[in-house]
Amino acid sequence: MNNFEMFKSQLSDIKDVLEPISLEKGKKVVKASMVKKVATIVGIKTTASRFLPVSHEGYSTDTFVDKVDLLDSNRAEFIGRKLKGIERRAHMSMFRELLEANSDMAWDEAFKKYFGKEGGCIIPDGLCLTCWNCSLFGGLEAGKGAVFSRIRYFDTYSIEPTELAVAMEGSDEGMAIGNTVSEDLNKKRGSDSYHQYEYVKAGIHFPFITIIENSTFLDVIGYIKAVKIADQHGYGKYSANHGKFDTEFLAVSTGYPRFSVLDMLEWAGPDYSIDKIRTKFNATSPGVEFEGNSSEPVTVFGGEIDQMTENLIQEFKKYFDILKG
Ligand SMILES: [Zn+2]
Repeated sequence: MNNFEMFKSQLSDIKDVLEPISLEKGKKVVKASMVKKVATIVGIKTTASRFLPVSHEGYSTDTFVDKVDLLDSNRAEFIGRKLKGIERRAHMSMFRELLEANSDMAWDEAFKKYFGKEGGCIIPDGLCLTCWNCSLFGGLEAGKGAVFSRIRYFDTYSIEPTELAVAMEGSDEGMAIGNTVSEDLNKKRGSDSYHQYEYVKAGIHFPFITIIENSTFLDVIGYIKAVKIADQHGYGKYSANHGKFDTEFLAVSTGYPRFSVLDMLEWAGPDYSIDKIRTKFNATSPGVEFEGNSSEPVTVFGGEIDQMTENLIQEFKKYFDILKG
């Protein structure tokens, strides 16, 4: 077995984790309780456009980037909840296409047939609690029950301090001026619709770590592909034209990381060097460790990770065949 096959062999088999639960008779979901197997995905996201990481409800005329003092610097903050929300939507739309391609019916009809949800699974308020997306990201439906999330996100922070990373009042660029109705030509523009906003500039780096418990190979490659789609869609406020990213995957492992996002910020050093972080993920002499629950974890580094997603259609078929029963 090569490294890649060994990686796959240490993950949960779809067959073993897809089990009917009482939630909807006969429906199959991945059980969240079995957490023996794990996949960790590590990488760096680089802004490809202006990015507004905003978790608060802004003021009416000014929007400020989330910032936090951390490790001797003031940094832009990109919260895990935001990452999860955008990636969950990208994951849903990508798998809807796979479902349509495999079932010869529209995605909402297929949802009704296979997951028992009229109108399809809708994020965030009409979740079906049984589909591939709900079984990974979790969900709560009044009167129906809850599915625990198997995917864990962590907050991340800009490697570069805000004086380099953020265009704000007092910086060379200053705050930007936007129009809240610029994308809707039916709405009238007026002085109320103009506002000022800070933004994270292009070329700023955010390291990230994502952990999937009881992960299948389909979970891992589905996540990787969804991140790429989310990068194109955008993560920020007004995401139609903001918050686009390039994501570089550094490692995918069947163990838990023995390092954190904060360690990754420190590795960049005082010159904010991304190469210093990359060096830690060198396949021949890695400077990072992962810890397995029982067996020695298998870690795949760098370029090989993108190739994994070539198996997405094939892996989805396996899942779908089991669903069809
Ligand atoms: Zn669902």
